[in-house]
Amino acid sequence: MNNQPYDVIFVGAGVMGCAIATNLLRRDSQLKIALIEKDLSYEFSSTVLSDGNSRVQFNVKENIQMSLYALEVLKTFAEDMAVDGEKPEIGFRQQGNLFLTDEVGRAEVQAGLALQQSLGGEVAWLTPAEAKAIYPLLNIEDGLFVGATFGRKDGTMLPQAVLEAYKKKAVALGAELIEAEVTAVRHQNNQVTGVQLKNGDVLSAGVVVNSAGGWGTQIARTCGVELPMKPVMRQVYVVETAVRPDKILPLLLLPSGTYLIHEGHGIFMTAHSHPDDPVTTTDFSWQRHKFEERIWPELAEFLPDFDSLRLTDGWAGIYAVNTFDGNAILGEWPGLRGFFLVNGFSGHGFQQCHAVGRYLAECILGLPPALDLSIFSPRRILENTPVFENKQKII
Ligand SMILES: Cc1cc2nc3c(=O)[nH]c(=O)nc-3n(C[C@H](O)[C@H](O)[C@H](O)COP(=O)(O)OP(=O)(O)OC[C@H]3O[C@@H](n4cnc5c(N)ncnc54)[C@H](O)[C@@H]3O)c2cc1C
Repeated sequence: MNNQPYDVIFVGAGVMGCAIATNLLRRDSQLKIALIEKDLSYEFSSTVLSDGNSRVQFNVKENIQMSLYALEVLKTFAEDMAVDGEKPEIGFRQQGNLFLTDEVGRAEVQAGLALQQSLGGEVAWLTPAEAKAIYPLLNIEDGLFVGATFGRKDGTMLPQAVLEAYKKKAVALGAELIEAEVTAVRHQNNQVTGVQLKNGDVLSAGVVVNSAGGWGTQIARTCGVELPMKPVMRQVYVVETAVRPDKILPLLLLPSGTYLIHEGHGIFMTAHSHPDDPVTTTDFSWQRHKFEERIWPELAEFLPDFDSLRLTDGWAGIYAVNTFDGNAILGEWPGLRGFFLVNGFSGHGFQQCHAVGRYLAECILGLPPALDLSIFSPRRILENTPVFENKQKII
């Protein structure tokens, strides 16, 4: 570590910090950038604990556009992110996402579908019988859903591999990766001046990016910024069933928000956001009982073959839930120059790292944005103009 001031300091080197740093250095190779990460094993980082899914099935135009851009980036990701000829392998499989809807959600889903299609998203409306044709395990006898949308280009990948790719690229382009914990963002006269580290060091910079994921609320608080965001501990479950589909099934989203990802053979991953999920950044204990009591009965209703299964594994991870409107908070905080936010992604941040990486780099450098994401500006919090994605659930 040297004592020269940095141009940009990142608090947190998860997928967001690393994607922005890469985009900054691609635009200006002279920038001095510090990526500060408190735990380079990433044991508790949301990126590595996420399901790695990407979908164009959103209701806000900019969220759809971010996902369409992600699909473009992923086409050449391995080549573009190669370092010393070594290409990352991110295991992107486009098995599609099948979202079931009930009567209550139908109008909202169909409005989203029309918008997705108008923007070039390859998403189609399916009747229950058509949904069963691509997801043969579905129960269509009991009227549990009235239709579905199928995004055939949607899919899942290895989130840790994407993070590592961006991190390696940022470092190869000149970013300094520092394992240390930031305890405060320093500022003077409404201008950020750097960060204080737990080991006592002070690093200076005119721009500090809050890329601390679920810890972002406490980082913002150290410089007097109160974000409407809380770290909510979500639970993921892995089950083994007796079913043996002959190919990987689409991701399935039930009308309640429960989702199910087929991993191959009889293995599935499933999760649901419950209102009583704990708010914490420290207690990562796995709540097995929530699967047995709440998720399993619902799965067995929609997929009768799931009546019998074995719960084999699981984990807990943080959603940085934006309690204001459930969407990303992107850009400079009004009133504190140089303090940039990349927060509040709730359950859909991983797929947005490509678009957010580019947009935040453009914001920091004062460049016109290729995709204008100012709808997610932190100013909307102060002006009380929320951007709601989905009235039904936070996903
Ligand atoms: C169970 C689960 C499933 C998910 N599934 C999906 C999905 O399918 N698709 C999707 O798009 N999104 C999904 N998400 C959301 C997604 O994981 C996040 O939105 C995204 O990874 C956020 O990236 P990040 O870089 O902001 O946060 P993180 O990956 O958490 O990175 C933040 C980093 O900051 C570090 N840090 C924190 N405080 C400090 C400090 N004081 N000093 C230094 N470093 C610090 C942390 O150690 C961490 O590494 C899921 C999340 C969870 C929990």
